[in-house]
Amino acid sequence: MADPIQLERRGLLYVLSSPSGAGKSTIARKLLEADSEIAPSVSATTRPIRPGETDGEHYHFVTDAAFDQMVEEDAFLEWAHVFDRRYGTLKSEIGRSIDAGRDVLLDIDWQGTQQLKQVDPDIVRVFILPPSMEELESRLRGRRTDSDEVIAGRMERAAAEISHWAEYDYVLINDDAERCAARARAILEAERLRRARRTGLVDFVRGLTG
Ligand code: 5GP
Repeated sequence: MADPIQLERRGLLYVLSSPSGAGKSTIARKLLEADSEIAPSVSATTRPIRPGETDGEHYHFVTDAAFDQMVEEDAFLEWAHVFDRRYGTLKSEIGRSIDAGRDVLLDIDWQGTQQLKQVDPDIVRVFILPPSMEELESRLRGRRTDSDEVIAGRMERAAAEISHWAEYDYVLINDDAERCAARARAILEAERLRRARRTGLVDFVRGLTG
């Protein structure tokens, strides 16, 4: 439900990180469905498109040469190597939404989060943990798309990603997707109410007290 009194505020950058298989994309989808004030940042990547994905919606799928060109043109707010491919957050994706006073959801890894924090200290960082490594492995196996070798690589990579959990502002354990998504929404709501972000508050209080 929208507030009857709309105060001006800066859009915020809401970062979600987790090892692959921890259910991050489900949480992100639920957050976007439940809230029209937040939009996803569509990253550029050099990884191949997967069945069911749409170019420009899940990612901007680009060639290595195109990615090089984007780096050259300083088009990225951050970029990193993940699974031997490159992924980057485009400045154009962020600027458009923030300027319109909308919040942006970023699904990026710990390397990107560190870089982004340097550029904009005001970001909100949320890390999603799986309930156990056994559960994580079974979720990865459940996809049935990857070989044992790929699964082992993903588990190793997951442990590396998890080792950065303490660099985040909030940590959620995803033992129940509904509950975890509700908490992700609660974080977003609370962060929107932070005094420093509410640029319209000074005028509002001035109007109250004269
Ligand atoms: P996937 O290929 O499974 O979609 O994503 C692999 C990993 O890349 C995920 O952990 C995701 O968070 C990360 N990722 C996606 N986009 C970006 C980005 O723009 N920057 C960084 N640093 N990581 C990203």
